[in-house]
Amino acid sequence: MGGLQSDDNKLAFHYSFKARNGKVNFQEKANDVLIKQPQHLYPIFLFTESKEGWHYEGDFSVAKIEEKFVVLARKGSALEDTTLDQDEAVYQEGGRRYVTHLMAERSNAVVSAAKSASSWICEICSMDFYDKYGVKYIEAHHKTPISTYSEKYAIKPQDLALLCPNCHKAVHIHMKNSDLEYDEIIKILAPTS
Ligand SMILES: [Zn+2]
Ligand SMILES: [Zn+2]
Repeated sequence: MGGLQSDDNKLAFHYSFKARNGKVNFQEKANDVLIKQPQHLYPIFLFTESKEGWHYEGDFSVAKIEEKFVVLARKGSALEDTTLDQDEAVYQEGGRRYVTHLMAERSNAVVSAAKSASSWICEICSMDFYDKYGVKYIEAHHKTPISTYSEKYAIKPQDLALLCPNCHKAVHIHMKNSDLEYDEIIKILAPTS
């Protein structure tokens, strides 16, 4: 089984992916189940082993997917807020790269960047959401490829693109269906010629 590590309050556990010779195979059944948990919402009943035997820790869900492990958050705890929205279930076939992207976009840094934005103009279609709808709203898209950062990577403003919901959705659909990075996707969405 994968290794297990918890915080002091046992609200979150780090659960290592199964690996062979240090290499994680994401197609491997147990790993695959963990990666897909945020979409399929399988219940995770966590047991830890001690001298006295197995101890039931409770009901958990996958809050974060990292290179070597997942973060399991106790159901109902604040940590669990980072779990994917139900409506993202349509992207369940999007694969690990895309799921990791969605997780990153739900990080506090990205959400607060969008909330503290001073412009409501979409970088792709130039629509001003406030002008058009009278609502100060914008979404932050995380344009840095997930593979280029580690667990301790701090998100910088230049890593984010401020987009209207339509363009943001379109970028995500392209991400889900292809290996294209943001710079390539915007060329498709907003041809310059
Ligand atoms: Zn737009
Ligand atoms: Zn995005």
